[in-house]
Amino acid sequence: MSRLDEIGANLAAVRLRLASACLAAGRNPEEVLLIAVTKTWPIADVEAAASLGLRDVGESRDQEAAPKAAARPDLVWHFVGAIQSNKARSIGSYSNVVHSLDRADLVDPIARGAREAGRTVRVLVQARLDGEPGRRGADRDEVLRLAELIEQTEGLRCGGVMGIAPLGEDPNATFGVLSEIAAAVVSTHPEARDISAGMSGDLESAIANGSTMVRVGSAIFGAREPRLR
Ligand SMILES: *Cc1c(COP(=O)(O)O)cnc(C)c1O
Repeated sequence: MSRLDEIGANLAAVRLRLASACLAAGRNPEEVLLIAVTKTWPIADVEAAASLGLRDVGESRDQEAAPKAAARPDLVWHFVGAIQSNKARSIGSYSNVVHSLDRADLVDPIARGAREAGRTVRVLVQARLDGEPGRRGADRDEVLRLAELIEQTEGLRCGGVMGIAPLGEDPNATFGVLSEIAAAVVSTHPEARDISAGMSGDLESAIANGSTMVRVGSAIFGAREPRLR
């Protein structure tokens, strides 16, 4: 099987899972955006995904995302990974949507990158869902403060919230917490309606809990090689 056929078959299976999950949750599949997470995969795989109709692409490291986004500026680029302070300006310069803002000091450099590139970046606030201090994501009150800060910053719009269900915990419970945080954000920022939740292993429970953006990598492209961080 060619790589294109392989990705195409995987994609068909993922679309079927999305459709069944929406049916089970009584939701319209058009409410859920599928983002193909292409991290570690070559630009040829991005091209393959695009030729199969995917327009939204996710990456998690600036060094890898920047050249890919430059090669395909026609696609919609989602930055989903942890943001290092010294990469924030670069990330703001090519991302259409940043999913993983979790601290106030990232707001200005992302906005500077966005303004220099003459664009407005949609920013989601990443909520911490595992209760462990020190892990990625902001606590509920901090999510609300960050949403306000983003809205007040030229070059940025708050798009909503993002969360990652911790391994080994019930994703239904954690995505339920995320949807409560999302409702609090929407009550003050009615446009910030997106909930970025769900990956290859847990997209069904994310959709049952109101996800509007699923970030799917391995179910489309195959298992990634482990990489050194
Ligand atoms: C890698 C990654 C994904 C995709 O994960 P899969 O399990 O391969 O679908 C989604 N979200 C984030 C933040 C990631 O880093």
